[in-house]
Amino acid sequence: MVMNELGVDRAEAGQIAAAVQCQYAPRNLAGCLGALAKSGDLADFQGHVRGRASRQQARLAPDDRRTRPCCPHGEAGGVDLNPRSGRPWCPLCRIGAAADIEPAPTGAGP
Ligand SMILES: [Zn+2]
Repeated sequence: MVMNELGVDRAEAGQIAAAVQCQYAPRNLAGCLGALAKSGDLADFQGHVRGRASRQQARLAPDDRRTRPCCPHGEAGGVDLNPRSGRPWCPLCRIGAAADIEPAPTGAGP
């Protein structure tokens, strides 16, 4: 039913149904899904499920970094930017990047 309404695969339909079940705890899940589909609110649940899936993907990103070249500190993919923070993955590279951005101290010469 959900699959037909939104054109999603079985796994995603299951996740959407689970999200609806979690939110409303309906006695009749199929009836509730039908009502949500009719009102257009089912698409909101689809967006919610898709957003969660993309966040999970972002969380998995560090595994992909293992195949990337190492930063000067020996961390694979350390200089690559974390898509969520926009800063390097390696903490030492982060400190280096922050130091580059901050203005150099002036008037502190010998
Ligand atoms: Zn580094």
